[in-house]
Amino acid sequence: RRGERSMAGHLRDRLPKGLLALLKRAGSLAKSMGYEAYVVGGFVRDLILGRPNLDLDLVVEGDGILFAEAMARELGGRVKSHHKFQTAAVLLHDGNRVDVATARLEYYEYPAALPTVELSSIKMDLYRRDFTINALAIHLSPERFGRLVDFFDAQRDLKDRMIRVLHSLSFVEDPTRILRAIRFEQRFHFKIGAQTERLIRNAIANQFVHKLSGPRVFHEMRHIMEDDRPLASIRRMDELKLLAAIHPDLALDPRKDEVLAEAERVITWYALLYVEPKPEVWRIYFLGLCAGMEDDQVQGVARRLGFSKHLEESFLALRHSIRNTAQQIFEWDYRRGLHSELYFLLKDLPLEGVLYLMARNPKETVQRSISLFLTTLRTLRVELAGADLKAMGLPPGPRYAQILRAVTAAMLDGKATCRAEQMALAKRMAEKDMGLEWMPGAAPTP
Ligand code: ATP
Repeated sequence: RRGERSMAGHLRDRLPKGLLALLKRAGSLAKSMGYEAYVVGGFVRDLILGRPNLDLDLVVEGDGILFAEAMARELGGRVKSHHKFQTAAVLLHDGNRVDVATARLEYYEYPAALPTVELSSIKMDLYRRDFTINALAIHLSPERFGRLVDFFDAQRDLKDRMIRVLHSLSFVEDPTRILRAIRFEQRFHFKIGAQTERLIRNAIANQFVHKLSGPRVFHEMRHIMEDDRPLASIRRMDELKLLAAIHPDLALDPRKDEVLAEAERVITWYALLYVEPKPEVWRIYFLGLCAGMEDDQVQGVARRLGFSKHLEESFLALRHSIRNTAQQIFEWDYRRGLHSELYFLLKDLPLEGVLYLMARNPKETVQRSISLFLTTLRTLRVELAGADLKAMGLPPGPRYAQILRAVTAAMLDGKATCRAEQMALAKRMAEKDMGLEWMPGAAPTP
């Protein structure tokens, strides 16, 4: 019978030792409670594909919450449980997290034609999943440890690199699976199966996507945009008319496509610099998706996707600050311009905005200017602080910021590159002030 293949070798060879031990202990613990436990889903898929994945999803035939509590006691950790869904997360002291779900037959309602009584709970659990490749499980009990459970020919689909649903109502049941299908297809370089693609096109044509709540769509879109190379997924969404189904203004046009392609290039470049902070890349792609829109259109999209008021406002504000900076940045002269001018133009723009400006204008001089800011200017700091000004006898006030700004500018423009020069400049400014406005002659000797 298929499904009897042993994954013990893979588990031994491809997992960190601690994780293998954890799975074995989970299996023994389940047995001691009279349960069967399985590791399921993306973890098994990635194990077979040889991709690292440490997210443990366990399914227990038995009481999942009791099992999670026993696991936390035995391994040291705490449990967050959801009684409504019979699920729990075990947060182990060593930082690992294990998600536990309960497989219980009586919870599922299925079309009468299905011979429900003959199905084991694990089979029903797997049948509710999105795609065959995610519907694999591995036995953890000591007698069967490592044995693969494959009811739906997932191994064949992994080999053929195919994304297939388990039944024809899958996208009707949950249209977010359309976005998931695209994400997995692009991430693994698989192909959505012909029948599955027909079901997707049908679901979209029949407006099933309209029924999805904003936050659920947004959650999956964000997931797509945070994967490695989202452009292919975005294009695929557009080709399947999914973007337009989510919101008519989201459909791609040549301009958006170009900006998104540049965005992906810029984001990849920036990631290779290995500098902090990391941008929230979805915002950059989202700016690209909204390229050429008016604010009220962006608002429409934000509302469709259930943005909170705060998120909507911060996103619109980001667009405005980009717009206010763009012209000056694009015109800044890479050869003759003052570095301080570039710095002050960009310093308060969120990183996502700076990277988006780069994507918006692929001209080489613009790329160089922004790159200069990101790789060099942004992190330079003057070697003096407010305390130094205080020590000079300057009373605290708005002048502090002005002086520090002037010193920063001088540093960036190569005129005060060491602490001594910066102190001298600050002192000249402070003394001038004090001589004119503050306590004449009261400056203490340093
Ligand atoms: P990733 O590597 O992106 O985390 P994953 O496959 O682990 O991928 P999750 O979103 O963490 O994906 O979901 C875990 C498992 O839950 C999946 O493998 C899948 O079996 C199941 N699942 C998740 N979302 C759905 C859904 N909308 N419909 C059916 N099953 C789902």
